Amino acid sequence: MAEPQAGHAPVLAGVVGFPVAHSRSPAMMAAAFATLGLDWRYLKLPVPPELFAETVRALGGSGYRGVNVTVPHKPAALELADEASAAALAIGAANTITFDHRSRVVADNTDAGGFLDALGETPRGKRTLVLGAGGAGRAVAYALREAAAADVSIWNRTPERAAAVARELGVRHAAAPGPADILVNATSVGLDPSVPDRGALAALGIGALEPPPAIVDLVYGSRPTPVQTWGERAGSRVVDGIEVLVRQGARSLEVWTGRGAPLEAMRAAARAGG
Ligand code: NAP
Repeated sequence: MAEPQAGHAPVLAGVVGFPVAHSRSPAMMAAAFATLGLDWRYLKLPVPPELFAETVRALGGSGYRGVNVTVPHKPAALELADEASAAALAIGAANTITFDHRSRVVADNTDAGGFLDALGETPRGKRTLVLGAGGAGRAVAYALREAAAADVSIWNRTPERAAAVARELGVRHAAAPGPADILVNATSVGLDPSVPDRGALAALGIGALEPPPAIVDLVYGSRPTPVQTWGERAGSRVVDGIEVLVRQGARSLEVWTGRGAPLEAMRAAARAGG
């Protein structure tokens, strides 16, 4: 899509979710557009599930270049797509929609690539353990498999879900968390600040484990998470959920604008948004 000329409306993008009020993406994307000198606007779009498909289709003809998609719409975003990336198809969900010049809906999943960018080391040849078999756990397990981790194990509180994801993605189902080189918390444990750290670690079955050398916690909030604190106290290298948020957003921005993402500006805005 061509850049708008003087006097023309800005290009639009946004995040579609329900709820979406808590999202740090608008601040992060506004900082990116300002740094790149782009006349773009990124809006919060709270859309209930029953209106998701028709709303997204309408955005394509309404000045939107693309949208990020968050809970609970990621599977629906893939379903309505006219075209989808291999990652989105394998994960069964899309977090990035781009409208092409005919307003067709092109779906991608930058959660997987963004996670690998945030990880900051190659998982090739490493033993990896993913906690959680929801949407995020699926994307992370897929990313680790694609990046040639020697072992990808997935554990979940509800074991049947982990078993099903393991079967579909061709990774291992762990009946209980065990030693690994890289551990990823892709559950929502840690979101609720009223749960003490010890309770959170027990809920994940890792309270008695030695923290592995590298840890990624997808959860983020206004305080260090229990998994983050567990790892940092033991000297592990810990990547937090904000870095993952920034990296998936950076990939979306690059798809839409064709420009390199200004990571420092995006990080600063995302971290300030807590
Ligand atoms: P989801 O599909 O709802 O899955 C939630 C997961 O958490 C399931 O595996 C669930 O296990 C587990 N869980 C919930 N409460 C638990 C408890 N008390 N004990 C043990 N396990 C529990 O959510 P999602 O989309 O995968 O997201 C998971 C988390 O990742 C969320 O906190 C989300 O904010 C975060 N996330 C962050 C980023 C980022 O950019 N940083 C991106 C995506 C997601 P059951 O199957 O047993 O219910």
